[in-house]
Amino acid sequence: MEISYKSTRGSGETLTASQAILQGLSPDGGLFVPTQIPRLPKSLQELSQLSYQELAYEIMSRFLTDFTPAELKSCIQKAYDSKFDTDAIAPLVERDGAHYLELFHGATIAFKDMALSILPHLMTVSAKKNREEREIVILTATSGDTGKAAMAGFADVPGTRIIVFYPKHGVSPIQEKQMVTQKGNNTHVVGITGNFDDAQTAVKKMFHDPDLAGELSRAGFLFSSANSINIGRLVPQIVYYVYAYATLLREGKIQEREKINVVVPTGNFGNILAAYYGKQMGLPIEKLICASNDNKVLYDFFSTGIYDRDREFILTTSPSMDILISSNLERLIYKIAGEDSAKCREFMGSLSTEGKYTITAAMREQLGDFYGDFATEAETAQTIARIFRDTGYMIDPHTAVAAAVYGKYKAQTGDGRATVIASTASPYKFTRSVLSALDAKYDSMTDFELVDALHGLTGVPIPRAIEEIRTAPILHDRVVDAEDMPGTVLDILGIS
Ligand SMILES: *Cc1c(COP(=O)(O)O)cnc(C)c1O
Repeated sequence: MEISYKSTRGSGETLTASQAILQGLSPDGGLFVPTQIPRLPKSLQELSQLSYQELAYEIMSRFLTDFTPAELKSCIQKAYDSKFDTDAIAPLVERDGAHYLELFHGATIAFKDMALSILPHLMTVSAKKNREEREIVILTATSGDTGKAAMAGFADVPGTRIIVFYPKHGVSPIQEKQMVTQKGNNTHVVGITGNFDDAQTAVKKMFHDPDLAGELSRAGFLFSSANSINIGRLVPQIVYYVYAYATLLREGKIQEREKINVVVPTGNFGNILAAYYGKQMGLPIEKLICASNDNKVLYDFFSTGIYDRDREFILTTSPSMDILISSNLERLIYKIAGEDSAKCREFMGSLSTEGKYTITAAMREQLGDFYGDFATEAETAQTIARIFRDTGYMIDPHTAVAAAVYGKYKAQTGDGRATVIASTASPYKFTRSVLSALDAKYDSMTDFELVDALHGLTGVPIPRAIEEIRTAPILHDRVVDAEDMPGTVLDILGIS
C-alpha cells in the first residue's frame, strides 16, 4: 500500500515520504501526516521473533513507501549499530511494578537518539531520490537533548550542515557541555538569551520566511528540520513501542492481543504521538498516559479541552519537557478535527494570535485513548528516591515524572494491567537533580564528582557519552538574542 503525506494546514496536495522528510515542515506552516495509517504487517507473535533492526524495517517500510528495501535497510543498519551500548537497542527492565523501556542506550544517552541516529541517513537518501543538489542546512531549536542528538547524528555527514540553538540558561550543565564540545566541521551551536519556546518560535519563523529561503537557495543551501515535527523522526519512534510489546510477549509477560498501557514523559508530544500511531496500526494499547511536569499545559488540555499557553514558564529538573507549545499536538488536533485542515489552521491561528484555542465537544470525545496528569518537582524527586530505595533502580527526572504520574493513574483507576514507561534519559545525564533527590549532601559536589558518586551508588557503568566530555575542549561559545538568530544563520553560512 502506497502511503503519501499531506499538510495539517494544506489543501490536500500530497508528497512522497522522501519529499516530506526533506521539507520537514510544510510551507503553509502545517505538519506532514500520513494519508493513512498502515496496519501492523504481521502477527504480534511473528513480530516478537524479530531483532530490533528487522522490526524497524517491518514498521518503517510500511510508512516510507517510496524507499526501496535496500535503501531503508542501509539506513537502519547505519543507525542501529555499535553506537548503542546494547544489542537490544531498547531494552525493557521490570522494576517497581512497571516495565521501563530504556530509550537511552544511544550516542547521547537520551531517547532522541532513537530517531536522530537514523534521520540523517533518511535525509541524504531522500535528497538523492529527489535529485536535490543543494546542501541541506538543518536548523534546530533544542530544549536540551535534541540538539546534541541531532549533531551526533549529522556530524560529518556529507552534504549536510547543522545549526543548533539552545536556551543558554535552560539546559543542564551536562547537556550544555555535551553540546559545546561537539566535533564535526559541519556543526554549529549557539546559545540564546531566551527560553526554548523563544528559540523554537524564531526557528519556525525562519522556515516561513520566503526572503530568507530565497537568499539561502541562491547561495546553494536548503533549510530542513531535525525537530520532532519531521516525519522522519516520528516514524522511527513507532518502532520501539511495537518492540516493547513484542518483548513482553516473547518473555511471556503478556498474552498475544492483551492490552498494555504506555506512559510517556511528554514535552513536544512527539514520543507519545508515535505510541498513538502504533495503537492505530493495531498495537494493543489501552491508555496512552501523557505525563507532564509543572509546565502542565497538556494536562490542562486533556482535562478541559482548552489549550492555553498563556502562563508562567517554569524551569524544572526535567528541562526537555519545559515546553508550552507542544508542536506535535497539531497532528492529533488535525485527526480529531476529522482531518479538516481549515479547522486545524483556525485552531493554530488562534494559538499564535491569542495564545489559546478550545476544541469542540465532538473532538474531546475522541480523546478517550489518552489520560493526562502531571507531577510537581517535589513528587518527581520523591519518586526518584523511593524507587531507588525500594529497588536499587535509578531513573532520571523525566522518567520520574512519568513514574509519578503512573502512580497517580493506578491509584485513581485501579488499572493493574502491564504498563510500559518510556524511560527517556540516562540518570547520568541529570546527575545533580537525581542525587539531590536522594540527599542534600550531594549539593556541593562538582558535576563530575556527581558522576562518580552515581556510579558508586548504582554500579551502572559510566556511559561513553559522559566519559568523553570530561576533558573535551569547548568548541562553541556564541550567545545571541532570539531576534538575532536569522543574522547568525547567515553569518555562519558565510552569506551576507
Ligand atoms: C525530548 C524529551 C522528552 C519529551 O519528548 P517529546 O517527544 O518532546 O514529547 C522527554 N524526556 C527527554 C529526556 C527528552 O529528551
